[in-house]
Formats: sequence, C-alpha cells, structure tokens
Amino acid sequence: MKKIHHNTNGETALSASVLVLNKLFMAIKVVNVKRAFGLLYKNYAEVIAKDNGRFDSYDFIRWVDYSSNGGAREHDEFIHTPGLRIRVPRVIRLTFYDKVPKKKVKFNRKNILARDSYTCQYCGKKYSSSALSVDHVVPRSRGGSTSWTNIVACCHRCNTKKGGRLPREARMRLLKEPIAPKSNPTVSAKIKEEKYNLWKEFCSSGDHLAE
Ligand SMILES: [Zn+2]
Repeated sequence: MKKIHHNTNGETALSASVLVLNKLFMAIKVVNVKRAFGLLYKNYAEVIAKDNGRFDSYDFIRWVDYSSNGGAREHDEFIHTPGLRIRVPRVIRLTFYDKVPKKKVKFNRKNILARDSYTCQYCGKKYSSSALSVDHVVPRSRGGSTSWTNIVACCHRCNTKKGGRLPREARMRLLKEPIAPKSNPTVSAKIKEEKYNLWKEFCSSGDHLAE
C-alpha cells in the first residue's frame, strides 16, 4: 500500500474507529483506520457501506474507485494519498472469518476511561485520555485489587492528592461505585456519534465487542 500522506483533516480521519464484522455479518470488534485499510488491502476484508439507503460491499480496488468518484456526504472522512482520496469506511466485513464475538469486556485502561466517561471520579471534571490516570480506590499497598470494582479514572491532580490513602482518609469521595461494565464502553460511547450511525445496523450499545 502506498504511504498515506495526511493533512490536519486526515489526522482526524485516521483516528476514527472501524467496526469489524465476521463473515456472518456479526459485529466482532473495533479497529483503527490503519488496521482496517491493512485488512482491506490484503483482501481479508471488504467495505460495507450504506449509501442512498442501499447496502453494498466493496473490495479494496472498488472502494478506492468509488471513493474517488462518489460525492461526499455528511460525516464522511477521507484520507489522501498522492492523487487519491479514499473514504474512511465505517464498517468492514472479514470475508474468511466466521467465529463469533467474544463475550467479555476487556479489562484495560482504555475501557476504564470510557466506562467513566473520561471523567475524574473524584473531582468530576472531564479530561482527555492522556490527562487521566487510573487510581486504585483501595491502594495496592492496602490489599486493593486491580479490577473493575477497584480502579477508576482519576486526574493527575486528584491522584497526587489522594496518594496511597483510602478516599475517606484523603477526604475525597467517589462520584459513583465502580462496577464491571456489561457492555463494551468504547462501543457504547462511539455508537452515539452521528458518524457511526451505520454501526447501529450491526450492533447495539449493549454488545460485547473486543477492542
Ligand atoms: Zn480530579
């Protein structure tokens, strides 16, 4: 694949997420745009698009062609290569993979931050993902576990303030009791955005998808 040159606008397009379906059109995971194009380029996947109310599938070559000739609709994003502009797909389908989705939400930093809506669970302020850390509510040194129910999103300031203490010792209070999410919090957050409308055709915010 040609190297993708992108401008500022392209940066946003590259940070988008792409829903991956298995061969049976079941949503199985979410990948970034680079990964999606990698799969398309190797012909492991095809683009699923719904334009003018009609579903269609495109292999990589057809998609490139369609992207350069088709008009842009609202919420479309494009990446630019020399001489080409390729529309960022929202949904792709793995043409050879028919295994079914994983059932458990992955326990990782990204999903913790999404579960807590990128909001510090002590001061209640919203931050970008890089300005947040994760805090052990009961510190590890006091036997606190590294689990959904003991880890929360926390800003650097509150993290420093709390130190190795329990919230009440630091006179801090959690916004809400942390719990294990029943569905993938990243998908639940994304599916509310207009540009991911197509995802609703294949999954609901309650789906368990691997990230
Ligand atoms: Zn805070």
